Amino acid sequence: SAPKLTFDQFIRHWAQERGDNVALEEGDDALTFGQLDQRSRQIIAMLKANGALKGDRIAWLGKNARHYFELFYSAARVGVVTVPIGWRLAAPEIAYILQDTGAKILFTGEGFGELASKSCSQLDAPPRVMGQSEALAAIEQAPADGFEAAGPHDAVLQLYTSGTTGNPKGAVLTNANLFSLRVPSEVEQQPWSVFDEEEAILVCMPCAHIGGTGLGIMAMGAGIRSIVQAEFTPDGVLDAFEQGITRLFIVPAALQMVVQHPRAKDTDMSAVKYVLYGAAPIPLELLREAVRTIPDAGFLQCYGMTETTGTIAALPPEDHSLEGNERMKSAGKAVPGAELKIIGEDGEELPRGEVGELVCKSPSNMACYWNLPDATESSLRDGWMHTGDAAYMDDDGYVFIQDRIKDMIITGGENVYPAQVESAIYGHPSVGEVAVIGVPDERWGEAVKACIVPKPGADIDPDQIIAWTSERLAKFKVPKSVDVIDVMPRNASGKILRKDLRAPYWEGRERQVN
Ligand code: ATP
Ligand code: MG
Repeated sequence: SAPKLTFDQFIRHWAQERGDNVALEEGDDALTFGQLDQRSRQIIAMLKANGALKGDRIAWLGKNARHYFELFYSAARVGVVTVPIGWRLAAPEIAYILQDTGAKILFTGEGFGELASKSCSQLDAPPRVMGQSEALAAIEQAPADGFEAAGPHDAVLQLYTSGTTGNPKGAVLTNANLFSLRVPSEVEQQPWSVFDEEEAILVCMPCAHIGGTGLGIMAMGAGIRSIVQAEFTPDGVLDAFEQGITRLFIVPAALQMVVQHPRAKDTDMSAVKYVLYGAAPIPLELLREAVRTIPDAGFLQCYGMTETTGTIAALPPEDHSLEGNERMKSAGKAVPGAELKIIGEDGEELPRGEVGELVCKSPSNMACYWNLPDATESSLRDGWMHTGDAAYMDDDGYVFIQDRIKDMIITGGENVYPAQVESAIYGHPSVGEVAVIGVPDERWGEAVKACIVPKPGADIDPDQIIAWTSERLAKFKVPKSVDVIDVMPRNASGKILRKDLRAPYWEGRERQVN
């Protein structure tokens, strides 16, 4: 039979095959696949009664919730496009996204009514706002009618990029984008793409990010249980380990909080099969510490972007051995079904080992950026997504992400990738967090600067940091100066906002980017 590529197909399939298994769990609240099928018919009727039809946008403002996931899955069955909005955003940022999407209804999670009204008050044509209790009551009363299912190429999800390098952009994703790399009959099986029926996935990253919503999609494709946590906390993850979750996805900053938590060494983590991590560069020292702390799990590094529906390259567990392993610095190789290459400035494919831009051809590549035809045209060329990341590929196809091209520092004609310098500095015992940026310099064009948050109770001596780095990296990569800062500016995805750290140094000047 033809492969399943839509939410409607997966919901029907699992309702039939695993109707009594739990699909979504949040605290004491659980919904089986059978119940999900029935309930989503009511949600579809509720959406229709409120004027949300195929091709329309609905938005969600709130933390992760069972209610969000059932809403998204149901809307996706009929091609109503869900736009989850980061709950850490401020009212003007939320208003920007609502305005951009023209969402018909804004659903709010518990405690987000006020922020929703504040955001909507800035709009000429605000969406209808539906609070949780109103929405739940409307769903209860709606009939479980029939409906016309959306097809593989209909848009179902509009995710905004993290806004690390500029304004967030809305990536329009179709049913096929979400499922095509996850259909076992279509692609070569990897050990980690095989799921036991009893498995449970922890969803703890924000649902406005592919690392949050994407895990729900993974669970729906595999027919297994999602355990939804409202937001990431290290305690929550450690509790989930003890509860027996078998997989999770976590960004490096969050992984650090989990493995360095005082409770970590006493926590039973034996049920965890795979720890998926990624979305930002991970310092090697932190990765080693994580592997030592969760020794029974297979670690899987994920590289990808919102525009590629998440993972397009993965570093498999066997490349995480602790005995001096060069591969551990790699983000992995193309996942089955995706193609990767490194290109030069004229678009030509570069020989292995040479640094250029990483581009990807994949059935998971977004349909387009919403309302940004120029950006779509420049980043999606002949089906190849241009990632904006500098990388090289080794002879075996493993990619080594250097950093974002926009963040690369050119100092005295040499290219310096901040992530490499950060990774070296991170090993210093007094360093809690570190970001490396380029600041204007008369002589060198740009000079390397490190911004460091000390570990609690530790002091940072800039000369010592410079000496430490000199022992580990070529001279031109060593910071010329060190700033000690109190908090690291990060966005809701946990990514360091180097542009914010750079801003005060570049005030009144234009920074050249490649
Ligand atoms: P914006 O596009 O709005 O500036 P963003 O690029 O941070 O924000 P995302 O789509 O969440 O938005 O992130 C994708 C980017 O994250 C990639 O282009 C890459 O720079 C980085 N990234 C993802 N996975 C990894 C990884 N495993 N190692 C290093 N960097 C990664
Ligand atoms: Mg990006």
